[in-house]
Amino acid sequence: MPPVIINLKTIPNMELPFAESWRIKMIEPIRKSTREEREQWLREADYNVFQLKAEQVYIDLLTDSGTGAMSDRQWSAMMVGDESYAGAKSFFHMKDMISSLTGFGYVVPTHQGRAAENVLFSALVKEGDIVPGNSHFDTTKGHIESRHAFAVDCTIDEARDTALEHPFKGSVDIAKLEAVLEKDAARVPFIIVTVTNNTAGGQPVSMENLRQVRRLADRYGKRVVFDSARFAENAYFIKTREEGYAGHTIKEIVREMFSLADAMTMSAKKDGLVNMGGFIATRHQDWFEGAKRFVIPFEGYLTYGGMNGRDMEALAVGLDENTEFDNLETRIHQVQYLAARLDEFGIPYQRPAGGHAIFIDASKVLTKVPKEEFPAQTLTVELYREAGIRGCEIGYILADRDPVTRENRFGGLDLMRLAIPRRTYTDNHMDVIAVALKNVYDRRESITRGVKIIWEAPLMRHFTVKLAPACD
Ligand SMILES: *Cc1c(COP(=O)(O)O)cnc(C)c1O
Repeated sequence: MPPVIINLKTIPNMELPFAESWRIKMIEPIRKSTREEREQWLREADYNVFQLKAEQVYIDLLTDSGTGAMSDRQWSAMMVGDESYAGAKSFFHMKDMISSLTGFGYVVPTHQGRAAENVLFSALVKEGDIVPGNSHFDTTKGHIESRHAFAVDCTIDEARDTALEHPFKGSVDIAKLEAVLEKDAARVPFIIVTVTNNTAGGQPVSMENLRQVRRLADRYGKRVVFDSARFAENAYFIKTREEGYAGHTIKEIVREMFSLADAMTMSAKKDGLVNMGGFIATRHQDWFEGAKRFVIPFEGYLTYGGMNGRDMEALAVGLDENTEFDNLETRIHQVQYLAARLDEFGIPYQRPAGGHAIFIDASKVLTKVPKEEFPAQTLTVELYREAGIRGCEIGYILADRDPVTRENRFGGLDLMRLAIPRRTYTDNHMDVIAVALKNVYDRRESITRGVKIIWEAPLMRHFTVKLAPACD
């Protein structure tokens, strides 16, 4: 039988295709480069893409953190920023928005998410403590381990199988969490749940799972912190994937999520839709008092804590915009569009596509590169070499060394993250990314050697590590 060719012209009342929920008012030119230029720039950057200059990058997928485009409403809000040192109007605009979205009455501004961690953990985490959670983000882990405490990962095992489809792959394994509490409750200052679970691939956590964590925490008298960088994307997945939530607004879902937490740390550079900023919010006065002690010396006064008035205004608007369905749908649709292109080429990634990024499973692409030579970092270098596209290793280099044995940690996944900045690139850019990656994928068998470490920092080494091509 010959294939049936459908003549689109004969279909009546066609469904309209999907399109972005915004239009573009300002553009920024970007530039391609030659392979020779990129070879040299890679050498100069010691094969660490963090060390590249941004203008040496054509499509920048290093991170979705602070790299998004603000709206006309946000830019205009910046003009009314109140730069008073204390008690600025802009602080209260931001605080009121956070409180109305989350129900948390206390808000402590910080310059970004890790600063929120630093301030809150300074008050709460001490040597020997155990902080269980779901795949702690690298700065979160860093702020726990630098205090000689331990981050125990209780993510569900499904998250480790990148080929497995699971609607809420970021969730906490309640049995693992219970085992930690049963054995060491006295050493646990709080439980931390990351929404969405960045490290596991931007994978969401279900409302049901958040409820189970809450119940367990209550049984042991523990508090729960949400690491909330992508809470709005998490709410989108709850709405579109979890039974009973299709009819809820994003704002209703967000409110319900935070009703299950005691506090949040926030990198506003993600779902806050701003280029810089962060905060702590909590319902507990004692935690607020604890954070106050550290925000002033580390960050700044209580009503700005490292942010300008104008930035707090833009954040208030960003939080409002990004808890609306249309904005989130446009965003997630683009990530899923890229995933569908990769499916056409058979390129393996953490399935299903995450909220903010595609995580390529490097161990399944560069099968000839030994893990000691960091396959995901090697793939990151190859993709840059191919087309000037900058991804980011979320793998064995980022995993740092074990704080006790100082051995490399090869136990987790070895992924290359392609993070999609919010409202920044078009689907045409997604096509370029997909084809560039296909070209690397096609020559994967010929890539047999990776990279070796020449120099590394003791903590969070991936930002500054110096590498060289591995050879004998
Ligand atoms: C980005 C991020 C942080 C740290 O925030 P910064 O603003 O980069 O300091 C913490 N947790 C998660 C889950 C993040 O994605």
